[in-house]
Amino acid sequence: MSEMIEIEGVTKAFGGIVANDKITLDVPEGRITGLIGPNGSGKTTLFNSIVGYHPIDSGSIRFEGKEISKLRVPGIARLGLLRTFQQTRIYSKMDCVNNMLISVSHRHEGVRDMFSKYPPEVTERAEVLLEYVGLYQKRRLISGDLSFGQQKLLEFAMALMNEPRVLLLDEPTAGINPTLINGLIDRLKRANQEMGVTLFVIEHNMPVIMNLAEHIYCLANGRLLAEGPPEKIQKDKRVIEAYLGGHYT
Ligand code: ADP
Ligand code: MG
Repeated sequence: MSEMIEIEGVTKAFGGIVANDKITLDVPEGRITGLIGPNGSGKTTLFNSIVGYHPIDSGSIRFEGKEISKLRVPGIARLGLLRTFQQTRIYSKMDCVNNMLISVSHRHEGVRDMFSKYPPEVTERAEVLLEYVGLYQKRRLISGDLSFGQQKLLEFAMALMNEPRVLLLDEPTAGINPTLINGLIDRLKRANQEMGVTLFVIEHNMPVIMNLAEHIYCLANGRLLAEGPPEKIQKDKRVIEAYLGGHYT
């Protein structure tokens, strides 16, 4: 098993707050890895560091063996390492297809939101992926009119448009109607198995992450508290205590 992302001793502070304190962990290729921890434990900060959103204070981040901790978001995205956000980032006044096209506009110089100017195979891929996440029937609807869960699916499809090797998902099921969560889990698993996308997922819905991930890391107060397969993490006293003692909601 080869490691896709290797994080070694990563530290990131904001003023006096050490959001990530010497974190060391690996994300293996082709798997679904989970990241849990109470609110404020440093999960989103770690994702931001991995994708180059901000520089880290110390430590090393390697992607497929290559040091990337000095690169910024565009350079890292070009290597095939992408993230989605806790809050969805879609263009709410545009329809789904145009959102999909915009997500790859940086790859097609001279085009922006003009549907007709994209090569037909790009539009085709957009429609295939919208079908894949179950939004084909809604492809011409203004995305702001979709339910929040559908907007999350759209955002996921937009990320897939960029053919990522690794996708970091920040709380993909947050705010989604419980009846739609299983559908989303299925889509994530299919993207992992059928498209071979390695997934690293922050999730605070315990049943979801236990179902989804093969290996789970737990952060608390910016530090790595525990790691292991779901069945082990579920019973880990330190993990249970971190959640009960923290301001987890
Ligand atoms: P989580 O995603 O686990 O809830 P975060 O990584 O968002 O946690 O936050 C970890 C800590 O770092 C928190 O105390 C938070 O307030 C702080 N933090 C995160 N981002 C910033 C920032 N841009 N500026 C200042 N403090 C931040
Ligand atoms: Mg967060």
